Amino acid sequence: MRSLFFFCLFVTVNGNENENENKNGFDFIEDSYRKYADKNTDPCDNFYRHACPLGSPDGLDDEVFSNFFRDKLEKLPNILDQYSIARDFLEIDELDGPIKHIADFYQNLCENGQNTTILLEQLEPFFSQFPNACNGQACLLYIQKDPNCQRGADNLRGTIMEYLEKHDPSAQFFEAFRKLLNLIKILNVHVGENVQSGVQQTKDMLAEMKETVLDWIKSTPWAINNNVEDATIAIMSPTIIHENYTDTWLSSIEELAELEISYNECKITYEYSEKANVLCFFLVAMKHNDLAPSEFFTETGAFIWYPYISLGFENYYIAKHSANMASNIGFVGFTIGHELSHMLIKSTVGDYLTYFSKVSKDCIQNQFNATCKEFKEESCITVNHQLDENGADILGVQLAYHVLKKHFGDDLMEIHKSLGIPQQQLFFYALAYSFCSGTPGKASILDVHSAGYIRVNAMISQLPGFQKAFECSGDSRMITSATEQCDIYGKNAPENKRH
Ligand SMILES: [Zn+2]
Repeated sequence: MRSLFFFCLFVTVNGNENENENKNGFDFIEDSYRKYADKNTDPCDNFYRHACPLGSPDGLDDEVFSNFFRDKLEKLPNILDQYSIARDFLEIDELDGPIKHIADFYQNLCENGQNTTILLEQLEPFFSQFPNACNGQACLLYIQKDPNCQRGADNLRGTIMEYLEKHDPSAQFFEAFRKLLNLIKILNVHVGENVQSGVQQTKDMLAEMKETVLDWIKSTPWAINNNVEDATIAIMSPTIIHENYTDTWLSSIEELAELEISYNECKITYEYSEKANVLCFFLVAMKHNDLAPSEFFTETGAFIWYPYISLGFENYYIAKHSANMASNIGFVGFTIGHELSHMLIKSTVGDYLTYFSKVSKDCIQNQFNATCKEFKEESCITVNHQLDENGADILGVQLAYHVLKKHFGDDLMEIHKSLGIPQQQLFFYALAYSFCSGTPGKASILDVHSAGYIRVNAMISQLPGFQKAFECSGDSRMITSATEQCDIYGKNAPENKRH
Protein backbone atom coordinates (compact mmCIF):
# COMPACT_ATOMS: atom_id res chain seq x y z
CA MET A 1 0.00 0.00 0.00
CA ARG A 2 1.79 3.03 -1.20
CA SER A 3 -0.56 5.65 -0.07
CA LEU A 4 0.27 5.37 3.43
CA PHE A 5 -2.25 6.45 5.76
CA PHE A 6 -2.14 3.57 8.15
CA PHE A 7 -4.50 4.39 10.94
CA CYS A 8 -3.84 2.51 14.03
CA LEU A 9 -5.28 2.56 17.42
CA PHE A 10 -2.55 2.76 19.89
CA VAL A 11 -1.67 4.24 23.07
CA THR A 12 1.54 4.17 24.91
CA VAL A 13 2.96 5.33 28.14
CA ASN A 14 6.20 6.83 29.14
CA GLY A 15 8.19 5.92 32.09
CA ASN A 16 10.72 8.16 33.48
CA GLU A 17 10.81 6.76 36.96
CA ASN A 18 10.20 10.38 37.68
CA GLU A 19 7.46 10.59 40.24
CA ASN A 20 7.49 14.38 40.02
CA GLU A 21 6.24 14.26 36.43
CA ASN A 22 3.07 12.82 37.79
CA LYS A 23 2.12 15.65 40.04
CA ASN A 24 -0.09 17.42 37.57
CA GLY A 25 -1.17 14.51 35.46
CA PHE A 26 -2.57 11.01 35.60
CA ASP A 27 -0.93 7.71 34.78
CA PHE A 28 -3.24 6.14 32.22
CA ILE A 29 -1.71 2.67 32.39
CA GLU A 30 -1.53 2.36 36.14
CA ASP A 31 -5.01 3.82 36.56
CA SER A 32 -6.37 1.38 33.97
CA TYR A 33 -4.64 -1.57 35.61
CA ARG A 34 -6.04 -0.66 39.01
CA LYS A 35 -9.55 -0.10 37.70
CA TYR A 36 -9.99 -2.83 35.13
CA ALA A 37 -7.55 -5.75 35.38
CA ASP A 38 -9.46 -8.72 36.72
CA LYS A 39 -7.15 -10.01 39.44
CA ASN A 40 -9.38 -13.08 39.86
CA THR A 41 -8.65 -14.44 36.39
CA ASP A 42 -5.52 -16.11 35.11
CA PRO A 43 -3.50 -13.85 32.77
CA CYS A 44 -2.15 -17.00 31.09
CA ASP A 45 -5.63 -18.11 30.08
CA ASN A 46 -6.83 -15.10 28.06
CA PHE A 47 -4.62 -12.12 28.73
CA TYR A 48 -6.74 -9.62 26.85
CA ARG A 49 -9.87 -10.41 28.84
CA HIS A 50 -7.87 -10.54 32.05
CA ALA A 51 -6.64 -6.96 31.41
CA CYS A 52 -9.86 -5.69 29.78
CA PRO A 53 -12.80 -7.71 31.13
CA LEU A 54 -16.17 -7.63 29.42
CA GLY A 55 -18.00 -4.67 30.87
CA SER A 56 -14.96 -2.38 30.94
CA PRO A 57 -15.28 0.77 28.73
CA ASP A 58 -15.58 0.34 25.00
CA GLY A 59 -12.52 2.06 23.53
CA LEU A 60 -10.88 2.88 26.85
CA ASP A 61 -8.17 5.29 25.70
CA ASP A 62 -10.55 7.16 23.40
CA GLU A 63 -12.99 7.58 26.25
CA VAL A 64 -10.38 8.67 28.78
CA PHE A 65 -8.68 11.14 26.47
CA SER A 66 -11.82 12.60 24.94
CA ASN A 67 -13.05 13.34 28.47
CA PHE A 68 -9.64 14.79 29.25
CA PHE A 69 -9.83 17.08 26.20
CA ARG A 70 -13.33 18.21 27.06
CA ASP A 71 -12.30 19.13 30.60
CA LYS A 72 -9.15 20.90 29.46
CA LEU A 73 -10.92 22.88 26.76
CA GLU A 74 -13.47 24.06 29.30
CA LYS A 75 -10.69 25.35 31.51
CA LEU A 76 -8.34 26.81 28.90
CA PRO A 77 -9.11 30.27 27.50
CA ASN A 78 -10.94 29.72 24.22
CA ILE A 79 -8.61 31.27 21.73
CA LEU A 80 -11.20 30.87 18.97
CA ASP A 81 -13.55 33.31 20.74
CA GLN A 82 -11.29 36.15 19.62
CA TYR A 83 -12.14 35.49 15.97
CA SER A 84 -15.55 36.55 14.69
CA ILE A 85 -15.27 34.17 11.74
CA ALA A 86 -14.88 31.27 14.18
CA ARG A 87 -17.75 32.48 16.39
CA ASP A 88 -20.08 33.09 13.44
CA PHE A 89 -19.16 29.79 11.84
CA LEU A 90 -20.86 27.92 14.67
CA GLU A 91 -24.20 29.33 13.45
CA ILE A 92 -23.41 29.22 9.74
CA ASP A 93 -22.47 25.56 10.03
CA GLU A 94 -25.86 24.78 11.55
CA LEU A 95 -27.76 26.21 8.58
CA ASP A 96 -29.33 23.87 6.09
CA GLY A 97 -27.60 24.71 2.79
CA PRO A 98 -25.88 27.92 3.92
CA ILE A 99 -25.40 29.32 0.41
CA LYS A 100 -29.07 29.70 -0.29
CA HIS A 101 -29.36 31.95 2.77
CA ILE A 102 -27.43 34.57 0.82
CA ALA A 103 -30.76 35.31 -0.88
CA ASP A 104 -32.31 36.14 2.53
CA PHE A 105 -29.65 38.78 2.92
CA TYR A 106 -30.44 40.19 -0.51
CA GLN A 107 -34.10 40.48 0.49
CA ASN A 108 -33.17 42.20 3.73
CA LEU A 109 -31.01 44.80 1.98
CA CYS A 110 -33.66 45.36 -0.64
CA GLU A 111 -36.48 45.79 1.88
CA ASN A 112 -34.43 48.29 3.84
CA GLY A 113 -33.71 50.31 0.73
CA GLN A 114 -29.98 49.53 0.92
CA ASN A 115 -27.57 49.01 -1.94
CA THR A 116 -27.86 45.51 -3.42
CA THR A 117 -25.42 46.11 -6.27
CA ILE A 118 -22.30 45.16 -4.31
CA LEU A 119 -23.78 41.86 -3.20
CA LEU A 120 -24.86 40.90 -6.71
CA GLU A 121 -21.54 41.94 -8.17
CA GLN A 122 -19.67 39.95 -5.54
CA LEU A 123 -21.62 36.84 -6.48
CA GLU A 124 -21.40 37.12 -10.24
CA PRO A 125 -17.92 35.64 -10.67
CA PHE A 126 -19.09 32.33 -9.20
CA PHE A 127 -21.86 31.99 -11.77
CA SER A 128 -19.74 32.97 -14.71
CA GLN A 129 -18.33 29.44 -14.88
CA PHE A 130 -21.83 28.26 -15.87
CA PRO A 131 -22.53 29.61 -19.37
CA ASN A 132 -26.27 29.23 -19.04
CA ALA A 133 -26.34 31.14 -15.79
CA CYS A 134 -24.14 34.03 -16.65
CA ASN A 135 -23.44 35.26 -20.10
CA GLY A 136 -21.21 38.24 -20.06
CA GLN A 137 -21.44 40.97 -17.50
CA ALA A 138 -24.23 41.90 -15.16
CA CYS A 139 -25.73 38.46 -15.11
CA LEU A 140 -27.35 39.00 -11.71
CA LEU A 141 -27.81 42.74 -11.63
CA TYR A 142 -31.13 42.52 -13.46
CA ILE A 143 -32.62 41.15 -10.24
CA GLN A 144 -32.45 44.48 -8.47
CA LYS A 145 -34.59 46.07 -11.13
CA ASP A 146 -37.56 44.16 -9.74
CA PRO A 147 -39.10 46.38 -7.05
CA ASN A 148 -40.62 43.34 -5.38
CA CYS A 149 -37.85 42.29 -2.99
CA GLN A 150 -39.39 38.90 -2.27
CA ARG A 151 -39.54 38.03 -5.98
CA GLY A 152 -35.96 39.21 -6.48
CA ALA A 153 -34.78 37.11 -3.54
CA ASP A 154 -36.67 34.05 -4.79
CA ASN A 155 -35.07 34.47 -8.20
CA LEU A 156 -31.60 34.75 -6.69
CA ARG A 157 -32.25 31.73 -4.44
CA GLY A 158 -33.39 29.71 -7.45
CA THR A 159 -30.24 30.62 -9.37
CA ILE A 160 -28.01 29.79 -6.39
CA MET A 161 -29.69 26.44 -5.87
CA GLU A 162 -29.58 25.53 -9.52
CA TYR A 163 -25.93 26.31 -10.05
CA LEU A 164 -24.04 26.64 -6.79
CA GLU A 165 -25.74 24.18 -4.50
CA LYS A 166 -25.23 21.25 -6.82
CA HIS A 167 -21.52 21.97 -7.00
CA ASP A 168 -21.10 23.98 -3.85
CA PRO A 169 -17.73 25.61 -4.42
CA SER A 170 -17.40 26.37 -0.72
CA ALA A 171 -18.03 22.82 0.55
CA GLN A 172 -14.35 21.91 0.59
CA PHE A 173 -13.51 25.06 2.51
CA PHE A 174 -16.25 24.35 5.06
CA GLU A 175 -14.66 20.99 5.78
CA ALA A 176 -11.15 22.44 5.91
CA PHE A 177 -12.28 25.29 8.18
CA ARG A 178 -13.90 22.81 10.58
CA LYS A 179 -10.60 20.92 10.65
CA LEU A 180 -8.63 24.10 11.25
CA LEU A 181 -10.74 25.06 14.28
CA ASN A 182 -10.46 21.54 15.66
CA LEU A 183 -6.72 21.47 15.04
CA ILE A 184 -6.24 24.73 16.94
CA LYS A 185 -8.22 23.32 19.87
CA ILE A 186 -6.16 20.13 19.89
CA LEU A 187 -2.89 22.03 19.66
CA ASN A 188 -4.08 24.40 22.36
CA VAL A 189 -4.18 21.40 24.69
CA HIS A 190 -0.73 20.22 23.52
CA VAL A 191 0.65 23.67 24.33
CA GLY A 192 -1.35 24.07 27.56
CA GLU A 193 -0.16 20.70 28.82
CA ASN A 194 3.38 21.27 27.58
CA VAL A 195 4.03 17.71 26.43
CA GLN A 196 7.46 18.57 25.03
CA SER A 197 9.23 16.12 27.36
CA GLY A 198 6.88 13.39 26.11
CA VAL A 199 7.67 14.33 22.52
CA GLN A 200 11.38 14.01 23.22
CA GLN A 201 10.87 10.52 24.63
CA THR A 202 9.00 9.40 21.53
CA LYS A 203 11.83 10.71 19.35
CA ASP A 204 14.38 8.89 21.47
CA MET A 205 12.39 5.67 21.27
CA LEU A 206 12.08 5.90 17.49
CA ALA A 207 15.83 6.54 17.17
CA GLU A 208 16.55 3.48 19.31
CA MET A 209 14.21 1.30 17.26
CA LYS A 210 15.67 2.46 13.98
CA GLU A 211 19.14 1.62 15.20
CA THR A 212 17.97 -1.82 16.30
CA VAL A 213 16.12 -2.63 13.12
CA LEU A 214 19.07 -1.42 11.05
CA ASP A 215 21.21 -4.11 12.68
CA TRP A 216 18.45 -6.68 12.25
CA ILE A 217 18.08 -5.92 8.53
CA LYS A 218 21.83 -6.27 7.98
CA SER A 219 21.78 -9.76 9.47
CA THR A 220 18.52 -10.94 7.86
CA PRO A 221 19.17 -14.03 5.69
CA TRP A 222 16.31 -13.43 3.24
CA ALA A 223 17.38 -9.80 2.76
CA ILE A 224 21.03 -10.80 2.24
CA ASN A 225 20.17 -13.68 -0.10
CA ASN A 226 18.09 -11.39 -2.26
CA ASN A 227 20.38 -8.35 -2.04
CA VAL A 228 17.77 -6.04 -0.56
CA GLU A 229 19.44 -4.96 2.70
CA ASP A 230 20.35 -1.52 1.30
CA ALA A 231 16.96 -0.94 -0.30
CA THR A 232 15.17 -1.93 2.91
CA ILE A 233 17.39 0.30 5.04
CA ALA A 234 16.88 3.17 2.59
CA ILE A 235 13.10 2.90 3.09
CA MET A 236 13.25 2.71 6.86
CA SER A 237 15.87 5.36 7.58
CA PRO A 238 14.03 8.61 6.70
CA THR A 239 11.11 7.85 9.04
CA ILE A 240 10.56 10.64 11.55
CA ILE A 241 7.90 11.72 14.02
CA HIS A 242 5.93 14.75 12.88
CA GLU A 243 5.93 16.43 16.25
CA ASN A 244 6.49 20.15 15.94
CA TYR A 245 3.20 21.12 17.51
CA THR A 246 4.20 24.62 18.60
CA ASP A 247 5.06 25.71 15.05
CA THR A 248 1.89 24.14 13.68
CA TRP A 249 -0.13 25.84 16.43
CA LEU A 250 1.33 29.26 15.58
CA SER A 251 0.95 28.85 11.83
CA SER A 252 -2.64 27.65 12.26
CA ILE A 253 -3.50 30.72 14.28
CA GLU A 254 -1.85 32.90 11.65
CA GLU A 255 -3.98 31.23 9.01
CA LEU A 256 -7.10 31.87 11.05
CA ALA A 257 -6.08 35.51 11.51
CA GLU A 258 -5.69 35.89 7.76
CA LEU A 259 -9.18 34.49 7.20
CA GLU A 260 -10.49 36.84 9.89
CA ILE A 261 -9.08 39.82 7.98
CA SER A 262 -10.81 38.75 4.76
CA TYR A 263 -14.03 38.12 6.66
CA ASN A 264 -13.94 41.50 8.37
CA GLU A 265 -13.18 43.31 5.11
CA CYS A 266 -16.44 41.93 3.78
CA LYS A 267 -18.31 42.63 7.00
CA ILE A 268 -17.23 46.29 6.92
CA THR A 269 -18.95 46.63 3.53
CA TYR A 270 -22.19 45.65 5.24
CA GLU A 271 -21.53 47.55 8.47
CA TYR A 272 -21.07 44.34 10.41
CA SER A 273 -24.64 43.24 9.85
CA GLU A 274 -25.15 39.71 11.17
CA LYS A 275 -27.20 39.00 8.11
CA ALA A 276 -24.08 39.37 5.96
CA ASN A 277 -22.35 36.46 7.76
CA VAL A 278 -23.16 33.75 5.23
CA LEU A 279 -22.27 35.90 2.24
CA CYS A 280 -18.98 37.00 3.81
CA PHE A 281 -18.09 33.46 4.81
CA PHE A 282 -18.84 32.30 1.27
CA LEU A 283 -16.58 35.00 -0.17
CA VAL A 284 -13.77 34.04 2.23
CA ALA A 285 -14.24 30.41 1.22
CA MET A 286 -13.85 31.30 -2.44
CA LYS A 287 -10.76 33.40 -1.83
CA HIS A 288 -9.05 30.78 0.39
CA ASN A 289 -10.29 27.57 -1.17
CA ASP A 290 -6.83 26.03 -0.88
CA LEU A 291 -7.01 25.94 2.93
CA ALA A 292 -5.46 22.66 4.06
CA PRO A 293 -4.83 22.35 7.81
CA SER A 294 -2.25 19.89 9.07
CA GLU A 295 -3.61 16.37 9.52
CA PHE A 296 -0.81 15.35 11.84
CA PHE A 297 -2.18 16.26 15.25
CA THR A 298 -4.97 14.28 16.84
CA GLU A 299 -6.25 13.43 20.31
CA THR A 300 -5.61 9.70 20.11
CA GLY A 301 -4.37 7.07 17.64
CA ALA A 302 -1.37 7.11 15.34
CA PHE A 303 -0.58 6.70 11.66
CA ILE A 304 2.29 6.86 9.23
CA TRP A 305 2.27 9.08 6.19
CA TYR A 306 5.68 8.20 4.96
CA PRO A 307 8.13 9.38 6.07
CA TYR A 308 6.17 11.02 8.88
CA ILE A 309 4.81 9.18 11.88
CA SER A 310 1.96 11.01 13.53
CA LEU A 311 1.27 10.28 17.17
CA GLY A 312 -1.93 11.34 18.87
CA PHE A 313 -1.68 13.57 21.96
CA GLU A 314 -2.30 10.60 24.25
CA ASN A 315 1.14 9.22 23.37
CA TYR A 316 2.96 12.38 24.37
CA TYR A 317 0.87 12.67 27.51
CA ILE A 318 1.44 9.07 28.53
CA ALA A 319 5.15 9.42 27.75
CA LYS A 320 5.29 12.47 30.00
CA HIS A 321 3.15 11.23 32.86
CA SER A 322 3.82 7.52 33.15
CA ALA A 323 5.65 6.88 36.33
CA ASN A 324 7.13 3.72 34.92
CA MET A 325 9.16 3.09 31.80
CA ALA A 326 7.72 -0.41 31.27
CA SER A 327 4.23 0.99 30.79
CA ASN A 328 5.58 3.77 28.62
CA ILE A 329 7.33 1.33 26.31
CA GLY A 330 4.37 -1.06 26.28
CA PHE A 331 2.02 1.66 25.10
CA VAL A 332 3.95 4.42 23.33
CA GLY A 333 6.90 2.27 22.34
CA PHE A 334 4.64 -0.30 20.76
CA THR A 335 2.78 2.41 18.85
CA ILE A 336 6.00 3.76 17.40
CA GLY A 337 7.29 0.26 16.65
CA HIS A 338 4.08 -0.59 14.84
CA GLU A 339 4.15 2.54 12.66
CA LEU A 340 7.81 2.12 11.82
CA SER A 341 7.13 -1.53 10.96
CA HIS A 342 4.62 -0.53 8.29
CA MET A 343 7.61 0.39 6.15
CA LEU A 344 9.14 -3.04 6.71
CA ILE A 345 6.26 -5.35 5.81
CA LYS A 346 5.35 -5.88 2.18
CA SER A 347 1.87 -7.10 1.52
CA THR A 348 1.14 -5.73 -1.96
CA VAL A 349 3.17 -4.96 -5.06
CA GLY A 350 2.52 -1.28 -4.40
CA ASP A 351 4.35 -1.29 -1.06
CA TYR A 352 7.67 0.44 -0.69
CA LEU A 353 9.74 -2.68 -0.11
CA THR A 354 11.03 -4.29 -3.25
CA TYR A 355 11.14 -7.75 -1.71
CA PHE A 356 9.76 -9.48 1.38
CA SER A 357 9.91 -12.95 2.84
CA LYS A 358 7.03 -15.27 1.92
CA VAL A 359 7.85 -17.48 4.91
CA SER A 360 7.45 -14.46 7.20
CA LYS A 361 4.10 -13.58 5.65
CA ASP A 362 2.82 -17.07 6.34
CA CYS A 363 4.23 -17.06 9.85
CA ILE A 364 2.41 -13.79 10.70
CA GLN A 365 -0.92 -14.95 9.34
CA ASN A 366 -0.58 -18.36 11.01
CA GLN A 367 -0.29 -16.70 14.40
CA PHE A 368 -3.35 -14.53 13.85
CA ASN A 369 -5.28 -17.55 12.60
CA ALA A 370 -4.33 -19.59 15.64
CA THR A 371 -5.28 -16.76 18.01
CA CYS A 372 -8.60 -16.37 16.18
CA LYS A 373 -9.37 -20.05 16.63
CA GLU A 374 -8.48 -20.07 20.30
CA PHE A 375 -10.05 -16.82 21.47
CA LYS A 376 -12.89 -16.08 19.04
CA GLU A 377 -15.64 -13.99 20.62
CA GLU A 378 -18.46 -12.64 18.45
CA SER A 379 -16.46 -13.01 15.25
CA CYS A 380 -12.89 -13.27 14.00
CA ILE A 381 -11.21 -13.36 10.60
CA THR A 382 -7.67 -13.45 9.24
CA VAL A 383 -7.54 -12.30 5.62
CA ASN A 384 -4.84 -11.21 3.20
CA HIS A 385 -5.58 -7.51 3.38
CA GLN A 386 -4.80 -7.57 7.10
CA LEU A 387 -1.26 -8.86 6.54
CA ASP A 388 0.30 -5.42 6.60
CA GLU A 389 -1.28 -4.51 9.95
CA ASN A 390 -0.76 -7.97 11.44
CA GLY A 391 2.91 -7.86 10.43
CA ALA A 392 3.34 -4.35 11.82
CA ASP A 393 1.92 -5.64 15.11
CA ILE A 394 4.30 -8.58 15.33
CA LEU A 395 7.40 -6.65 14.32
CA GLY A 396 6.33 -3.55 16.26
CA VAL A 397 5.92 -5.42 19.52
CA GLN A 398 9.27 -7.17 19.00
CA LEU A 399 10.93 -3.78 18.64
CA ALA A 400 9.19 -2.42 21.71
CA TYR A 401 10.14 -5.49 23.72
CA HIS A 402 13.75 -5.12 22.62
CA VAL A 403 13.74 -1.53 23.91
CA LEU A 404 12.23 -2.75 27.18
CA LYS A 405 14.93 -5.37 27.67
CA LYS A 406 17.64 -2.85 26.89
CA HIS A 407 16.19 -0.36 29.33
CA PHE A 408 15.68 -2.72 32.27
CA GLY A 409 18.49 -5.23 31.77
CA ASP A 410 18.39 -7.63 34.69
CA ASP A 411 15.73 -5.62 36.50
CA LEU A 412 12.79 -6.71 34.37
CA MET A 413 11.29 -8.76 37.16
CA GLU A 414 11.83 -6.08 39.78
CA ILE A 415 8.62 -5.47 41.67
CA HIS A 416 6.83 -2.23 40.91
CA LYS A 417 6.54 -0.28 44.15
CA SER A 418 2.90 0.73 44.24
CA LEU A 419 1.32 -1.96 42.05
CA GLY A 420 3.22 -4.88 43.55
CA ILE A 421 3.78 -6.60 40.17
CA PRO A 422 6.98 -7.12 38.18
CA GLN A 423 7.90 -4.24 35.88
CA GLN A 424 7.80 -6.58 32.92
CA GLN A 425 4.13 -7.37 33.51
CA LEU A 426 3.30 -3.70 33.21
CA PHE A 427 4.61 -3.73 29.64
CA PHE A 428 1.99 -6.32 28.69
CA TYR A 429 -0.81 -4.50 30.50
CA ALA A 430 0.14 -1.28 28.72
CA LEU A 431 -0.07 -3.06 25.40
CA ALA A 432 -3.56 -4.30 26.23
CA TYR A 433 -4.68 -0.82 27.31
CA SER A 434 -3.92 0.43 23.80
CA PHE A 435 -6.81 -1.71 22.56
CA CYS A 436 -9.07 -2.13 25.56
CA SER A 437 -12.74 -2.69 24.86
CA GLY A 438 -15.31 -4.22 27.17
CA THR A 439 -17.73 -5.50 24.53
CA PRO A 440 -17.38 -8.90 22.83
CA GLY A 441 -14.79 -8.68 20.05
CA LYS A 442 -16.02 -8.43 16.48
CA ALA A 443 -14.18 -8.65 13.17
CA SER A 444 -14.88 -6.39 10.24
CA ILE A 445 -14.06 -7.57 6.74
CA LEU A 446 -13.60 -3.93 5.71
CA ASP A 447 -11.05 -3.21 8.41
CA VAL A 448 -7.40 -3.70 7.54
CA HIS A 449 -6.75 -4.29 11.24
CA SER A 450 -7.56 -7.49 13.05
CA ALA A 451 -9.91 -7.05 16.00
CA GLY A 452 -8.21 -5.51 19.04
CA TYR A 453 -8.64 -8.55 21.28
CA ILE A 454 -6.97 -10.74 18.67
CA ARG A 455 -4.16 -8.28 18.08
CA VAL A 456 -3.22 -8.20 21.75
CA ASN A 457 -3.34 -11.95 22.33
CA ALA A 458 -1.53 -12.73 19.05
CA MET A 459 1.29 -10.28 19.78
CA ILE A 460 1.70 -11.32 23.38
CA SER A 461 1.71 -15.04 22.70
CA GLN A 462 4.54 -14.41 20.20
CA LEU A 463 6.76 -12.88 22.89
CA PRO A 464 8.72 -15.45 24.89
CA GLY A 465 9.02 -12.93 27.73
CA PHE A 466 5.30 -13.21 28.44
CA GLN A 467 5.48 -16.79 29.71
CA LYS A 468 8.29 -15.84 32.04
CA ALA A 469 6.70 -12.61 33.23
CA PHE A 470 3.50 -14.37 34.31
CA GLU A 471 5.02 -17.82 34.99
CA CYS A 472 2.54 -19.42 32.59
CA SER A 473 2.41 -23.20 32.37
CA GLY A 474 3.10 -24.78 28.99
CA ASP A 475 -0.50 -25.94 28.67
CA SER A 476 -2.12 -22.54 29.31
CA ARG A 477 -4.11 -21.12 26.40
CA MET A 478 -1.85 -18.11 25.83
CA ILE A 479 1.11 -20.46 25.41
CA THR A 480 -0.54 -23.24 23.42
CA SER A 481 -1.98 -20.68 20.97
CA ALA A 482 1.52 -19.43 20.15
CA THR A 483 2.62 -20.69 16.75
CA GLU A 484 6.16 -20.76 15.45
CA GLN A 485 8.20 -17.71 16.50
CA CYS A 486 8.03 -15.15 13.66
CA ASP A 487 11.50 -13.67 13.37
CA ILE A 488 10.81 -11.34 10.47
CA TYR A 489 14.18 -9.58 10.59
CA GLY A 490 17.44 -10.56 12.25
CA LYS A 491 19.78 -13.52 12.05
CA ASN A 492 16.99 -16.01 12.83
CA ALA A 493 14.76 -14.75 10.02
CA PRO A 494 13.98 -17.13 7.13
CA GLU A 495 16.40 -17.76 4.30
CA ASN A 496 14.17 -17.33 1.23
CA LYS A 497 17.02 -18.33 -1.04
CA ARG A 498 16.74 -17.38 -4.67
CA HIS A 499 16.16 -20.31 -6.91
ZN1 LIG B 1 -1.05 0.20 11.41
